[in-house]
Amino acid sequence: MHEEALLQHIYARSKDIAGDVLVGPGDDCSVVRIGSAQVLLTTDQLVEHRHFAADLPIDRIAHKAVARSVSDIAAMGGAPSCALATACLPNGYLHADALFDAMHRAAAAMQCPLVGGDIAIHDGPIVLTVTAIGTPHPTRGPVLRTGARPGDQVWVTGKLGGSLASGRHAAFTPRVTEAQRLCDQLGEDLHAMIDLSDGAGRDSGRIASASGCAIELDETALPMHAGVTDWRCALGDGEDYELLFTTAPSVQVASVKATPIGCCVPGEGCWLINRAGARHDVTTLGWNHGA
Ligand SMILES: [Mg+2]
Repeated sequence: MHEEALLQHIYARSKDIAGDVLVGPGDDCSVVRIGSAQVLLTTDQLVEHRHFAADLPIDRIAHKAVARSVSDIAAMGGAPSCALATACLPNGYLHADALFDAMHRAAAAMQCPLVGGDIAIHDGPIVLTVTAIGTPHPTRGPVLRTGARPGDQVWVTGKLGGSLASGRHAAFTPRVTEAQRLCDQLGEDLHAMIDLSDGAGRDSGRIASASGCAIELDETALPMHAGVTDWRCALGDGEDYELLFTTAPSVQVASVKATPIGCCVPGEGCWLINRAGARHDVTTLGWNHGA
């Protein structure tokens, strides 16, 4: 089953969640009220052979496992509080201590200390699951995927493409600081945000779909890493772990280094407008976990 289809199935079953669940499945984090506080919750799996190659060094595996979940906290404009990590490890695996030590170090470095976890053994690849807990920005509150509207500018931090080939997919810094600065500077003018895990095309499409509008990206505006020359790679390689966000039309983003790459318009889907003015559907470009 494709991940997208499975997620839609889960979302459909979660429609009736209410009460203290302020945001259910379908965003980068869920938002739950616990006591008088709002809490961000997210979990993510890292599977050997699927999300990393068997020869990736242990400290990189650990970093990636933790950073992917912390990046989801950043995508909401939040600050990480702590995390739980579980590992399903192959029979006879000799590096469990080193792996958990490395996850502890990575999590501490991201101000998201590991506070618990579990290990199981199986006949299969390494599977790491990190559940991160965080708090929304104190004044802006959680930044959702649903807030984009026609007329918004679309921005991205950093550069796009080439994540796997360069090794950045396992060495990136979650954009927690940048997300908080955006909340500080823009407040309610920061309309929607996502972290780029599956590619800027597919992930922009998620904001567009959640918000009920379309997004148009301008080929000539896309910031690409050195060695990336094709917009298909910039939008489809995935695992950039940059922030893609939309703002009110006249806003100037001064608090972080970000590039305006397009705009929200009426309609649906995410479209690349190339140099010649042709429109390409990029909603399905990029990484589908179930494909
Ligand atoms: Mg995400």
